[in-house]
Amino acid sequence: MSKHIFVTGGVVSSLGKGLTSASIGMLLEHRGLTVRMQKLDPYINVDPGTMSPYQHGEVYVLDDGSETDLDLGHYERFTDGQLTRNSNYTTGQIYQSVINKERRGEFLGKTVQVIPHITNEIKSCISKIADDETDVVITEIGGTVGDIESQPFLEAIRQYSLDIGKENCLYIHLTLVPYLKAAGELKTKPTQHSVGQLREIGIQPDVLVCRTERSLSVDDREKIALFCNVPIRAVIEEKDKDFSIYEVPFSLVENELDELIVRRLTLPAEPLELEDWQDLMQRLRNPRSEISIAVVGKYAAHRDAYKSIYEAIDHAGIAHRSQVRIQPIQSEQIEAEGPERLLSTYDGILVPGGFGERGIEGKVEAIRYARERSIPLLGICLGMQCAVIEFARNVAGLKGAHSSEFDKESPHPVICLLDDQQTITDKGGTMRLGAQPAALEPGSIAAECYGGQEISERHRHRYEFNNVYRQQFEAHDLVFSGTSPDGKLVEIIEIAGHPWFVAAQFHPEFKSKPTSAHPLFSGFVEAAVTYHASRAARSQEATRSDNQPWKSKS
Ligand code: GLN
Repeated sequence: MSKHIFVTGGVVSSLGKGLTSASIGMLLEHRGLTVRMQKLDPYINVDPGTMSPYQHGEVYVLDDGSETDLDLGHYERFTDGQLTRNSNYTTGQIYQSVINKERRGEFLGKTVQVIPHITNEIKSCISKIADDETDVVITEIGGTVGDIESQPFLEAIRQYSLDIGKENCLYIHLTLVPYLKAAGELKTKPTQHSVGQLREIGIQPDVLVCRTERSLSVDDREKIALFCNVPIRAVIEEKDKDFSIYEVPFSLVENELDELIVRRLTLPAEPLELEDWQDLMQRLRNPRSEISIAVVGKYAAHRDAYKSIYEAIDHAGIAHRSQVRIQPIQSEQIEAEGPERLLSTYDGILVPGGFGERGIEGKVEAIRYARERSIPLLGICLGMQCAVIEFARNVAGLKGAHSSEFDKESPHPVICLLDDQQTITDKGGTMRLGAQPAALEPGSIAAECYGGQEISERHRHRYEFNNVYRQQFEAHDLVFSGTSPDGKLVEIIEIAGHPWFVAAQFHPEFKSKPTSAHPLFSGFVEAAVTYHASRAARSQEATRSDNQPWKSKS
């Protein structure tokens, strides 16, 4: 039987519950245990697929095509357990399922209520990922304790330990211990209150993970332990990490959280073995080069909107021992100020995915700049579509070329709607979603990066390259280096003669890990390191000849 860990959060939102849960999962896996992770989200949307990245950050897509919360990205980056549709449930999904059952007559004669019908449904979602092969299920409850929305979830996890036995469940509460400058001390009262709220509904947390900017003193720990009714060794300090999120597991290990969990749940664990993660920290701390990458998108000010992309760039930096400075650039700003002023100092340009027309022309301009200046470029999804538009207009000479998503009247709809998308009217869950196979062209940059010709990558889009233009573009040296295995859908394009210009219709960022960077991101960052070195050499050369005024400048 699987053991269960429930992670809740208190005091404020954005405490990093996802990262903490993922770190716990990673540590337990590194103790030889099989872990499966899950997030329960209290919002009413059926999934985050229709939410704005401004509100909710990126939508993270799984192999099976489910559109999920971005915390699942942390889970996949930190752990190896497979994530599926059963790894993320929302209030919307829970109610939808209960209401469907009611319509089918499954509750005939009964009044359908939050307790027990909704809570039973939540419990069945938790049980779904528990099986004989899984040692531990980690379930993170979204939101903050005290929110109206999260109450049914908290009630369900309270009941869960009654159902399967207290000894099989562990409740971890993530809380904030703020430092009050005026008083010159850490304050434990918000933690006491938030634990108080949990206890009111019948949950006594077993472990408190305390987010703090300063170290907890013995006094602080004693006070928290006493007032919150936990043993002092269960007060775990998680100090803010300015350097890297990949340090989080190490601070939990320092507090022996893994050992505490293993003992409390009597898990058949092995000694902790963190060699791969120690190696990655070592690489992060000792870079051999420094490069900067511009990410030209629509949501530059919102870091969570491109979370997996920033992470994947970092992973490639780790692989190549390069410290990568990532600069988000608002594509509309390029429209206003031109690419030269904004992009001339970068070693690589990445144009991410997106929806809607705002900022499109700035993305097209950025891609043109990368193509003409031989700057490494990675285009992703909408980024690829913009690369096709740019190529059509400026290389193939097709005036007015566009995507039919943005210009229904374009004389050259080089990106157009997939046939099976033509009749779809619902917005939620109806795109081309999830893992799809692709075949790579031997000898292409993509095939070289992947080290093979068969790949599987995750998709999330409605529009595709319009095959009518295939031959015409090929004649202008556009390379279709990846297609669906039947050759019908274009998955990757490159430009012959450009040192590194790769744009993909899929989202490689969802399959990158800190311990194994994604091949395309790895290739992109490697190209940026080379570009940086050659630019540095060129500018040295220029300075040298500036200092030799007698030499004629050709
Ligand atoms: N808006 C484009 C489409 O639907 C691109 C989507 C994306 O970048 N994820 O095809």
